Amino acid sequence: MQLSALYAQIRQELLQNNIPNAEMEAKRLIMHHLGLDLGDFILKFGEKVDHLSLERIQEDVGKRIKGQPLSGILQKTEFWGLEFKTTGDTLDPRPDTETLIEAVLKYTLTRFSRCSNHPLPQGEGGDPQNGEGEGIKILDLGTGTGCIPIALLSELSGARAVAVDISEKALEIARYNAQKHNMLERIEFVQGDWMKGLDDYSFDIITSNPPYIRESDIENLDKEVKNHDPILALSGGNDGLDCYKKIFFNLKKHLNSQNRAFFEIGYDQLSDVMRLVDESNLFTLRSHPDLGGIPRVVEISRGDK
Ligand code: GLN
Repeated sequence: MQLSALYAQIRQELLQNNIPNAEMEAKRLIMHHLGLDLGDFILKFGEKVDHLSLERIQEDVGKRIKGQPLSGILQKTEFWGLEFKTTGDTLDPRPDTETLIEAVLKYTLTRFSRCSNHPLPQGEGGDPQNGEGEGIKILDLGTGTGCIPIALLSELSGARAVAVDISEKALEIARYNAQKHNMLERIEFVQGDWMKGLDDYSFDIITSNPPYIRESDIENLDKEVKNHDPILALSGGNDGLDCYKKIFFNLKKHLNSQNRAFFEIGYDQLSDVMRLVDESNLFTLRSHPDLGGIPRVVEISRGDK
């Protein structure tokens, strides 16, 4: 069968099964199995596809139609323009989380950038002679695939990070992703329960996209999420706020004075999270909306601005 015919057939099959973005998914499945980039895909449109590849592609189309997400089938997802390996042990990086990356970068630009008119003296996070964000120390809690620190360090060439996860399997994936993006030397991976393994270390920026779904809502999640993302990475306990409570309790100890923490939150959690921030003697500086205009990230300081 010719590549063009195969593409048309798969696109049709996906469409008939109500898979959104059928065109893009058909392309990605074929490209993955034939080892093609988009340029080759178009160039080889008239060529024949071998039998073994055909079988494998059809097998994956079957999985997709049964509800497995494409990222789960291909075991990779794009986030911040970078490719991340994903498995059943990690949450698939979501576009919403790019809001957090943008919020952090906005902050680093005004506070740490070498382009700033008021660069910080060396030792306070800034060294105008060196890479972007030189000396910034980032802590990412519940790192999963490592998408947050890896995306941040891809923009901040002078920064370093510590990435924590309770799951050793998730850390394995995060290490793999760090290596793939040449960041193994700039990220230290720590297995632990939030900040428990961090002694007295403190950081300039703390980030987290913790599990924040209410337990009672897990049943109603889309089956693509419910059956494929690990429950450990989704569930935030009865009210969805368990992880924020634990993290905020220890935040001051690990956040350098005058610095910031950024947390992704659920679509309806802004007021609850702000209340918790307040109760923890911290300060909500602002929230950042996602592309749909929903407050998705809270920016927190220790209260000393
Ligand atoms: N930090 C990872 C992400 O944003 C994992 C988050 C999680 O497991 N809740 O995708």
